[in-house]
Amino acid sequence: AQQQERVGFAVIGLGVIADHFMRGVKQSQRCKITALVSGHRDKAERIAAEYGVPKDSIYSYEDFDRIRDNKTVQAVYVALPNSMHAEYTIRAAKAGKHVFCEKPMALSSAECQQMIDACKTANVKLMIAYRMQYEPLTLKCIEMVRSGKIGDVVAFEGQFGFNIQPGVWRTKKALAGGGSVYDVGIYALQAARMFTGEEPVEIKAVASTVHKNDPRFAEMEESVEWSMRFPSGVVASCASTYGGQMEGFMRVHGVSGTLEMGPTYGYDGVTMRGRAKGEHWEESNPEKDPKQFEREADHFAECVQTGRTPKTPGEEGLRDLTYIEKIYESAGVKL
Ligand code: NDP
Repeated sequence: AQQQERVGFAVIGLGVIADHFMRGVKQSQRCKITALVSGHRDKAERIAAEYGVPKDSIYSYEDFDRIRDNKTVQAVYVALPNSMHAEYTIRAAKAGKHVFCEKPMALSSAECQQMIDACKTANVKLMIAYRMQYEPLTLKCIEMVRSGKIGDVVAFEGQFGFNIQPGVWRTKKALAGGGSVYDVGIYALQAARMFTGEEPVEIKAVASTVHKNDPRFAEMEESVEWSMRFPSGVVASCASTYGGQMEGFMRVHGVSGTLEMGPTYGYDGVTMRGRAKGEHWEESNPEKDPKQFEREADHFAECVQTGRTPKTPGEEGLRDLTYIEKIYESAGVKL
């Protein structure tokens, strides 16, 4: 595509994930970065110079709504703390911009619905950044399971977690919404849904904290374990934590074999192993970061250009928030 035909993105919030995304867009043939929104002007000017963004296309959070008049911006990428996703999605929609929003979509299912409604009213696309739904080895594994390579699926296991730094926004409930399920447990939840192709009908959860006087866990639990039952009868056992190194992992148990992915959910190095009926599989995706970000940005850009609905629209984010609320409710954690 010619430079002028690319979909122009305004990146809102210049943190860790925004950096991956911008590097992914740099590799893309369909997208470009045309504006930045930040609370730190110096940082924004430095990044603007790197990506060829004009200084008058740098916005603060306060003057963000002026982006309506910026014809070089067709879409925004919301890379802010979770509590700000709803506000900036709705403001972007009102400014007539398509919205590509990071996961978790918002703090609650009610907020998700407001975002969906705002984008519908403004007639703009809304896509949630579920990287793994665009990751080729993950998609291949889903296809293997769904096509019966390990026989009928009986059970699923999934987990993800890390040992969180003190003081970061993820440990503040007002900004994060809740604990690790919002941030990383959502990957196991997504994987269980993607691999079964079903929606959970029953959820039971337990929340717990090992490091009881640790200020990191003053506002939220350290770990959550939860079980889900799907309509077919498949059971899923999932976990997430902010207290220990819990490498991204999932395993599907079928009548005649097992398929597992680990490490998975990372920006690269996604690996699978499996065996069934005398067959053995082992494969890693050799692509390097930021390829996943290029892929999801390209998918969204294609949707903007063709009018197609994204594979992971707002409704997909809403579903996960509905389940996250059920997980915490079952665990007796007030959100
Ligand atoms: P960071 O803390 O690295 O970046 C967030 C940015 O938001 C900051 O750099 C800042 O940008 C801006 N911001 C505005 N207000 C605040 C505030 N009160 N506190 C902190 N930052 C603020 O977070 P991440 O990039 O890791 O996460 C951002 C979002 O992306 C989250 O929703 C997270 O769940 C999601 N995420 C998704 C991943 C994925 O793989 N899909 C992986 C990691 C995160 P500025 O200084 O420019 O104003």
